[in-house]
Amino acid sequence: MSQCYFCGKEKVVNESGGSCSKCTASICLPPPQRKDQRFHGEFCRCRCGRAFCMPHISTHSLYEERSNPSSCFPVLTGALGSGALGLIVDLVSSTSREPGSLPGRKEADQLSEFLNSIAPGHSALLPRVASLDESLWSIDEERWGYAGESFAAFEPSFFTADRMKYVFLLAAYELGSLFRKHRDEVATLMPDETIEIILPALGEWVEGQRVTLDESIESAFLQKRGCSSAASSLSDVLKLGQPPAREEDRVGWLFHAAVASSSQVTEPALMRSR
Ligand SMILES: [Zn+2]
Ligand SMILES: [Zn+2]
Ligand SMILES: [Zn+2]
Repeated sequence: MSQCYFCGKEKVVNESGGSCSKCTASICLPPPQRKDQRFHGEFCRCRCGRAFCMPHISTHSLYEERSNPSSCFPVLTGALGSGALGLIVDLVSSTSREPGSLPGRKEADQLSEFLNSIAPGHSALLPRVASLDESLWSIDEERWGYAGESFAAFEPSFFTADRMKYVFLLAAYELGSLFRKHRDEVATLMPDETIEIILPALGEWVEGQRVTLDESIESAFLQKRGCSSAASSLSDVLKLGQPPAREEDRVGWLFHAAVASSSQVTEPALMRSR
């Protein structure tokens, strides 16, 4: 087997397990072989059973399977979704951080990767990104170049407290949907066992049966992640509601998060100390 193209871009030696059936890029597949547990593609579980690279999973699941990444590519959705959700929880509950301060560049890159790869997906982001102030983003042509796709790279300043809540809601929605679809496999699909604690509640939230997390579940989750008691109230964020269903609507909702959420909550719920 050859070297994974995307690992190569990150200067990591890693064998590919196959190639993307859209762009033929060599890709590494789960289970991940890298120490940092990253991987760059997955076999589609919806109908076709073919392998797709990270740049092509959202477009394939949305436009070719008429489904979504959490159904077709649950391992990658679980990895990137739980990575984004966990990162936001850790950022807002870190005691060494000033409330409302922005994430670092590495964190912004991780959140950008979730937004481009899983939800709302780069094909929905790219046509609308120019509506944002140009200090907040750039187009990275290099990163997904071989796959023939562009990547919307968001600056740390894009991730205000309000926008992070909306990214949290997107990740929570994808993880809740993943739970509903692949309930029996969750233990093997989720790379992060702390996130498993809240998955059933996120599944109920997606179904519309629940708007908050039980306090006991939330505190067990935060404790397992090693978060301080000054941590965020995740329930208050879930009360903001589910993301819009259509990808284009999700982009508008995310980009204008500050405006939308200030009419719903009087203070940034994620930043509030208990
Ligand atoms: Zn790779
Ligand atoms: Zn591809
Ligand atoms: Zn497919």
